[in-house]
Parts: sequence; structure tokens; C-alpha cells
Amino acid sequence: MQSRLLEKMCCPFDKGDLNISIFKQEENEIIEGLLTCSDCQRYFPIIYGIPIMTPDEYRQKSLEAPVMKKWGLELPAGYQSFRLDGPTTARALEMGDNG
Ligand SMILES: [Zn+2]
Repeated sequence: MQSRLLEKMCCPFDKGDLNISIFKQEENEIIEGLLTCSDCQRYFPIIYGIPIMTPDEYRQKSLEAPVMKKWGLELPAGYQSFRLDGPTTARALEMGDNG
């Protein structure tokens, strides 16, 4: 997705502001990244340049988990809410720059 689109995007559930962590970018195109809602703490991965922002019931955690794991984000087994939970995940995001 084009990085300039970020300004126009908001959480599809509550219209909250989205924060982004970019993991792979080519010029102005975000290839891999993670959008997080500041209101509901939902996360929306960007995979192959496509932001996954479909309703929870249409998302498949099994498809997203390997990508999340590659980014250093491991969610507990059985975790179904698609929301970030607690400081563990947030800390993992912050550590991303340390390579
Ligand atoms: Zn939200």
C-alpha cells in the first residue's frame, strides 16, 4: 500500500487512529507492516502490500501467525481477538529497530 494512504486510514471498527510499524518498505510502498488501533488495540498486518482490515470473523489467524512470528510478534495459542494484549507485544515492537 502507498504510505501516503496512511493519513486517510482509520480503524474500521471504531474509527480510531492507527499507528504503524513498518517492517519492509520499497520507496513509497509499504510491503510489510503492522497497523494498530489506539482505541481498541486491534492489529492489522500489512502483507504483500495489502492491509488486512477485514472483520475478525473473516480473518484467519493461521495465515497471519507465520508472518507475525517473522516480525518477532508471537501471540498466545488460542488467541482469537486480533487485539494486542499487554506490554509483551508492545515491547517486541519497540525492539524491532535493534535488529
Ligand atoms: Zn479500533
